Amino acid sequence: RIAYVNGRYVAHDQARVSIDDRAFHFADGVYEVAAVLDGRLVDLDGHLDRLERSLRELRIAAPMARRPLTFVMREIVRRNRLRDGLVYLQISRGVARRDHAFPAQAGPSLVMTARPVNLAALEAKAGQGVAVMTMPDIRWGRCDIKTVALLPNVLAKQAAREAGAYEAWLVDAQGHVTEGSSTNAWIVDAEGRVITRSLSNAILPGITRASLMAAARAAGITIVERSFTVAEAKAAREAFITSATAFVTPVVRIDEAAIGNGAAGSVALTLRALYLDHIRRSV
Ligand code: PLP
Repeated sequence: RIAYVNGRYVAHDQARVSIDDRAFHFADGVYEVAAVLDGRLVDLDGHLDRLERSLRELRIAAPMARRPLTFVMREIVRRNRLRDGLVYLQISRGVARRDHAFPAQAGPSLVMTARPVNLAALEAKAGQGVAVMTMPDIRWGRCDIKTVALLPNVLAKQAAREAGAYEAWLVDAQGHVTEGSSTNAWIVDAEGRVITRSLSNAILPGITRASLMAAARAAGITIVERSFTVAEAKAAREAFITSATAFVTPVVRIDEAAIGNGAAGSVALTLRALYLDHIRRSV
């Protein structure tokens, strides 16, 4: 496997960054994960738009303009001979002596890696559906920025896994679901309306969320952006999660409650097919 580190393509195992990198000291950096299908980057414009916004919000300089960045992403796909997989991209504020305030001198660091995914295994997981476990959302006030500061997400995912669930659904002080630890959260009501929380500082603006919304609305499916409680989710006809890694994956259990008849929902599976069709056409 080949990685990219600050201007060089290097063997993944040999790739190194400084121990003075601010991502290492302070999690002072942002990232993106984009899916690759049939050798092509999925929802690339959305990911690059969000990356630029994350950088702006944190006042981290872009290490390069969008066109060369796109070139490097495609080059990472090409050099890894990636057909189906994921590209990971991380930009930190750079390397500097440890001091909380922004360094005057340092320029940003850019790291990129790629790895293959087993599409058949993903498909099987979607067909079965996954369990989620709810827990309090203990993250900060800017969850709309895709930073590498993911400790609350890590702890939530681990707690879910130890309880036999695939994903954690995070719940705010009002009892509303914000999102998953690494996915956006959705439910389908009795009338077949598809519901997901509206964008704010409380959730990451998922690129899969946006892309699925466009595809679903084009197909005449009603999407409602509003908050929902854990109780409403448990009583919903269907539930599902979205992300660049999971695409659209049905949820069949929330805590102890089976969702619908306990099998992957037909609306979720239809949306998954719609989404995959949409991205295969548009990449
Ligand atoms: N919410 C969180 C907290 C995430 O970390 C992610 C992706 O990693 C998502 C939502 C889904 O976003 P996307 O569809 O852009 O992958």
